[in-house]
Amino acid sequence: MSKDLKARTKLVHGGTRRSQYGEMSEAIFLTQGFAYPTAEAAEARFIEAGEDEFIYARYGNPTVAMFEERIALLEGAEDAFATASGMAAVNGALMSMLKAGDHIVSSRALFGSCLYIVENILPRFGVEVTLVDGRDNDAWAEAVREDTKLVFFEAISNPTLEIIDIAAVSAIAKRVGATVVVDNVFATPVFQRSLDLGADVVIYSATKHIDGQGRCLGGVVLGTKDYIRGTLEPYLKHTGGALSPFNAWVMLKGLETLDLRCRAQAESAAKITEALSVHPKINRCIYPGHESHPQVDLARRQMEKGGTVLSFEVAGGQAGSFAFLNALRVVLISNNLGDSKSIATHPATTTHQRLDDTQKAILGITPGLVRLSVGLEDTDDLIADLEGALAAAAV
Ligand SMILES: *Cc1c(COP(=O)(O)O)cnc(C)c1O
Repeated sequence: MSKDLKARTKLVHGGTRRSQYGEMSEAIFLTQGFAYPTAEAAEARFIEAGEDEFIYARYGNPTVAMFEERIALLEGAEDAFATASGMAAVNGALMSMLKAGDHIVSSRALFGSCLYIVENILPRFGVEVTLVDGRDNDAWAEAVREDTKLVFFEAISNPTLEIIDIAAVSAIAKRVGATVVVDNVFATPVFQRSLDLGADVVIYSATKHIDGQGRCLGGVVLGTKDYIRGTLEPYLKHTGGALSPFNAWVMLKGLETLDLRCRAQAESAAKITEALSVHPKINRCIYPGHESHPQVDLARRQMEKGGTVLSFEVAGGQAGSFAFLNALRVVLISNNLGDSKSIATHPATTTHQRLDDTQKAILGITPGLVRLSVGLEDTDDLIADLEGALAAAAV
C-alpha cells in the first residue's frame, strides 16, 4: 500500500491479505502450522521464508502479519513484530539487544512492570542500569556514557504525565551510538511520531488504545527491518512471546477506528481538564495539552494533541479521593487505559502500591491523585459525573 496515503486510509486498508474468497473483513487464520506442497518446498522455506510464507505461528502468521504491517504503516516504521502483551514487547526489545556488562540509562517514572524489568531483571543478568529524572536533559547527558548501549523511557510518564523531550534525549544518545527505545503508549501512535523525533525503536501495549475496547492483551515493537528481523525476531520467536492470531484480528479491527477514537477521547479529555482545573475540590490537574502543564511547549512541539489521559489531585488526600471514586456513576474504577469506557484509577493504592513512600513522593504519586482515562461517552455526561462525585465527596 502506498506510504503517501493518509493515516486513516492506512488504518482501514493497510496490510490486508485476501484469501481466494475475497473476504471484506480480514480473515482469522487460526492456525499454528502451515502445510508445504512438497518436501523440497519445506526445505526451501526453512532456508529462507519468502514474504508471505509462514512456518509456525510462534514465528509468524498471516493475521498477525496484517496487524504488523498496518501498524508499521501508521508509525512510518520499516517493520514491526507483534507480541502477546505490551510487556512481552518491552522485555523482547530490551533483552534482545543487551548482554552482561552492558550499560543502559532509563527514566525513573515508568509503568510498574517496565520498572521491574530495568530495576530487578536486567541487573540480575549483569546489565548496569542508571535511572534518571526523564524531564531533566542534563541528567540524561550526565548519565549517558561512551559505552551506553541503549536508553529507554516512556515518552509520557504514568501517572503524572511528565513529558520527555524525545529529540533532545535522542541527540544525547546518538553521540555515543546508543539505541533509543521509546514506550509510546500514553502519547499514542495517532498523536506522536517518535521515530521522526529521533527514536530507533517504538513499543506499544496494544492492550490500550489499539484494542481500545478492553478485550485482548497485545503488544508490538517497531523499528528498522534490520533490527526487527535481525535482532528482535530471533529472540522473540525462540522465547515464545507471539501474539495469538485471534488477538491480532481484534487489534486489526481496533486499528480501523483508532484515529477516530483517540481524537474523540482527546477532545473530551481537554474539555474535562478545563472543567476540573478550576474546580474548588481539585488541587491540581495535569494534562499534557493544557496551558497549566509545566511542559506545555514541549507537549505541543512533540504531540499533535494532549492524549486521552489526565490526572488530578482531589482535596482531602486518600479519604477525599476514595469518596470521589466511590461516588462515580458512569466512570468505572479500574486500571486499564485507552478504553472506550472511562476509567478512574487510584495509583497510590493500586498500580503503584508496590513503591515505598519515598519513591511515591519522588514520582508525585500523592494520596489524593486520581488518573482518568477518558473514554467515548458523551463529554457532558462525563463532566456531570465527575462534578457530581466531587460534590458528594465530603472534604
Ligand atoms: C500497559 C502498559 C504496558 C504493558 O502492557 P500490557 O499489554 O499490559 O503488557 C507497558 N507500558 C505502558 C506505558 C503501559 O501503559
